[in-house]
Amino acid sequence: MGRPEVLSARPDLAEVWAEADAAFPVRITRSFWERMDRADPNDPLGKQVLPDQAELADDPEGLVDPVGDSACSPIPWVVHKYPSRVLLLLTKRCHLYCRYCFRRTFDPGEREDPTAEEWDAALAYACASGATEAILSGGDPLAVRDRHLFETVDRLRTTIPTIRIHTRAPVTRPDRVTEALVAGLRERSPVWVIVHCNHPRELSPEVDAALARLVDAGVPVLNQAVLLRGVNDDVGVLTELCDKLVQRRVFPYYLHLTDRVRGNAHLRVPAAEALRLHEALRRRVSGVALPRLVIDPPDGSGKRDVARSAKSHDLA
Ligand code: SF4
Repeated sequence: MGRPEVLSARPDLAEVWAEADAAFPVRITRSFWERMDRADPNDPLGKQVLPDQAELADDPEGLVDPVGDSACSPIPWVVHKYPSRVLLLLTKRCHLYCRYCFRRTFDPGEREDPTAEEWDAALAYACASGATEAILSGGDPLAVRDRHLFETVDRLRTTIPTIRIHTRAPVTRPDRVTEALVAGLRERSPVWVIVHCNHPRELSPEVDAALARLVDAGVPVLNQAVLLRGVNDDVGVLTELCDKLVQRRVFPYYLHLTDRVRGNAHLRVPAAEALRLHEALRRRVSGVALPRLVIDPPDGSGKRDVARSAKSHDLA
């Protein structure tokens, strides 16, 4: 969606737009835009993608690398935190940008895609890493063409049995989940798709159809949600989200504490409150609908349960 169209619906954003956009691009897909209540400044979908004056405020607790990726990056475009898993960044581009994203501090002046040589080196590293799972991430790995995606999967598959694609595209741009994409993933099974949906209103009929195409093709689909102030910090909303995902045959895998990246302080939910919400959710949903509440800490040690971390760290 272009600036003029967004500002005609939300003229109050004119002042913040340029500065927020320069720090982290404002980009919204038409599909997501059509699901938003554009007149409502508290719309839970709008809060995820529209710039906010609060992003520009001082954020003394905000970090540039909130999950410690840079210390675990042996070569460009690769993050290797666990012996059994290796993560590759196919691109830094996304169809839509989420204001809370932990990658919002990607340097806007840097290249958004690896060169052919860099990508060759990244794949060679991953194939020799001894990992049993490769995670394709970004940016959004479905922002690249099918051919590049499939070549990447095929090359990794020479030594790595399981491939995961972490993508928000089925939710933000459901028409990206074409029959050709699904057929290519089915041929390359096992490829898992981990989607990212935070609020039940993101589940439109087009999104439902995209998810069904994947599941019907035998592609396992899981969801990661991020706990966000004013979006889903409510047990009723979380219950509806998890139940609706299960009804669509999508497993609600993780509920993340928002990473402490510079500029998203207004969207963070403290760990103690997150634990209370998660406990309330546990009492409302079945085991298959209950996500794990996790944190990805800045020391690069990788995801862990918030409940366990709260005992050993000062998370409250
Ligand atoms: S789609 Fe994913 S990687 Fe892209 S901005 Fe949103 S959360 Fe970040």
